[in-house]
Amino acid sequence: MSSEYARTERTTPSRLPERATYEQNAIHAVLDEALLCHVAYVADGLPRMIPTLHVRQGHDLYLHGSTGSTLMLAAREAAVPACVSVTLVDGIVMAKSWFNHSMNYRSVIVHGEAVLVTDADEKHAAMAALMEQIARGRAEGSRYSNKREFAATAILRVPLAQSSLKQRSGQAKDDEEDLGLPHWSGVIPITTTFGEPIGVDEIELPDYLQNYARGSLD
Ligand SMILES: Cc1cc2nc3c(=O)[nH]c(=O)nc-3n(C[C@H](O)[C@H](O)[C@H](O)COP(=O)(O)OP(=O)(O)OC[C@H]3O[C@@H](n4cnc5c(N)ncnc54)[C@H](O)[C@@H]3O)c2cc1C
Repeated sequence: MSSEYARTERTTPSRLPERATYEQNAIHAVLDEALLCHVAYVADGLPRMIPTLHVRQGHDLYLHGSTGSTLMLAAREAAVPACVSVTLVDGIVMAKSWFNHSMNYRSVIVHGEAVLVTDADEKHAAMAALMEQIARGRAEGSRYSNKREFAATAILRVPLAQSSLKQRSGQAKDDEEDLGLPHWSGVIPITTTFGEPIGVDEIELPDYLQNYARGSLD
């Protein structure tokens, strides 16, 4: 078993806390597999949430945005308290009762201060890693950002120190008294599949995009 992130009051679910884990490898695997995240923060005293691209590097999460976005403008002033979530759904769980319906899932929630990355080398490395998060091999397989594009891109760094993974797997759990009911119960598995790549021009599909799949960056 790998090391764990700290289990704190803030990162412990009040409901079904036994489904939560703080194991670093397991949290990294979910962050690496997910294509996108949702970032929640407070603007003008009210909660906001935006979907965006992310990449994990070690024990940090990097978030991508336009320099003109509200979140990135706020981060220019000071670190932004943020909550980032990523969810992978693995199955629809149908029970005999309404109440016992559920989902099989792996979800990660990260609490932390989102800090604007100002060091050019760190920013470039994070942007290259973001390309690799999209597809392994893509950083070298496409043109680097030019000066204008680099300046128009903002990258935030959020430490993973306060993160949790909650997950459910397995069958529907019916109440004892429901077992004789005539209703179907069970799981409809969900698997993510990627279609045939559709090129813009005649350039041959590179090897690294054959059989596209997602997995860990490690
Ligand atoms: C696809 C999906 C469907 C769900 N459907 C339902 C539903 O219909 N009803 C329902 O009650 N719950 C549902 N959940 C679970 C839900 O996300 C919460 O875990 C649950 O509501 C318990 O909330 P809480 O009050 O214990 O969490 P809180 O006490 O508000 O959470 C405290 C902290 O615990 C950690 N935490 C809590 N939940 C999660 C999580 N899911 N993943 C990672 N860390 C977490 C976070 O650090 C969070 O800040 C679903 C989850 C997923 C992914």
